[in-house]
Amino acid sequence: MAPLKICVIGAGVIGLSTAVCIQQELSTHVTVTIVADKFSPNTTSDGSGGFWGPHLVNPEQAGDINKWGNLTFDYIFDLFRSEHGGEVGAQLISGYCFSESAVLFVDKCFGVRNLTKEETFIHPEIRNGQTLTTVMIDVKAYLPWLMKKFQANGGIVQKRHISSLDELSPYYDVLVNCTGLGSYQMLGDHDLRPVRGQVFRVHAPWIKHFYVDIDPTDPDNEYYVLPGARDVVVGGTSQVGNWNTQVNISDRDHIWNGCCKLLPSLKNAKILDEWVGLRPQRTRIRVELENKQTNTGKRVIIVHNYGHGGSGVTLHWGCALEATKLVTHALKMGVPKSSL
Ligand SMILES: Cc1cc2nc3c(=O)[nH]c(=O)nc-3n(C[C@H](O)[C@H](O)[C@H](O)COP(=O)(O)OP(=O)(O)OC[C@H]3O[C@@H](n4cnc5c(N)ncnc54)[C@H](O)[C@@H]3O)c2cc1C
Repeated sequence: MAPLKICVIGAGVIGLSTAVCIQQELSTHVTVTIVADKFSPNTTSDGSGGFWGPHLVNPEQAGDINKWGNLTFDYIFDLFRSEHGGEVGAQLISGYCFSESAVLFVDKCFGVRNLTKEETFIHPEIRNGQTLTTVMIDVKAYLPWLMKKFQANGGIVQKRHISSLDELSPYYDVLVNCTGLGSYQMLGDHDLRPVRGQVFRVHAPWIKHFYVDIDPTDPDNEYYVLPGARDVVVGGTSQVGNWNTQVNISDRDHIWNGCCKLLPSLKNAKILDEWVGLRPQRTRIRVELENKQTNTGKRVIIVHNYGHGGSGVTLHWGCALEATKLVTHALKMGVPKSSL
């Protein structure tokens, strides 16, 4: 029997990981194509801090977030321990969270505890906080690594903009939608909104711990310093509904002054880059099956995997496994109706 044809739309961390996961789980039964209009290093995922820690998620989806997040934590931890750890910049990282609500969803992290009195002196206006150890990955290295794996497994790649899934449905058995914020236009899903994030990347090899001071009730209080394998990410902003991808001068000053107050030695760090990305936020992250009728009357099976907000890296492997299960189920059993 000829292999079934699967098309994954999107080549950010969600699309690439889902495509590789489908290849791994369904191996010889399918051929997988990735179609996207942007590839690494030009996706939103490339600019992400690569930090494992659920951010800007809906507590009402806590069950899924814990499940997907825990699977992804284990996956990044295993990568860190494997021979590939250096290539993808996977690391264990310890540090400090300076706001009470920052440490939701961290069952998996190691050594989570309240700060001691001595540790509170790290921050000039310390209220309280926690210390913990989590995992990180260098997304700029990880995405090309996933792509190499995908192509080595026989995956096909096409660079192309898709205005409607109907353009692809005649040619594939299953479409897997991993377009992030692109689904706002492509599907007309207006439950999606951008959450604009601006960050610096700096050279500061003396910084070995992360520092996070985010108050979810105060949009002006979001400061983080995340030392990754190649540089240190210094942020940030979370501006809901703002589609502007240009670096903004007043955000720049706000972030830099706030983070230098948090960690004064940053003042001497060499700035390597400044960047803005739009997080694809949705009321609920959408990982589900849809059985849709196209304009031509044909039925098409779609597996959606988008809307991960500020947690795409944190949840990606768990979501890839879930989406792969849905693809397998669709191929075997048929599909339920969409909720959109
Ligand atoms: C400043 C900042 C810092 C962040 N830090 C972290 C962090 O430390 N940890 C964490 O977990 N998350 C972080 N995030 C969030 C994370 O970056 C996102 O959740 C994640 O990148 C979403 O991945 P994605 O693959 O869905 O989207 P994207 O990376 O945007 O990929 C979408 C893909 O779909 C393609 N596409 C879209 N529409 C179409 C179309 N119509 N036709 C063809 N192709 C299309 C695009 O070309 C692209 O290939 C951060 C985000 C920002 C902005």
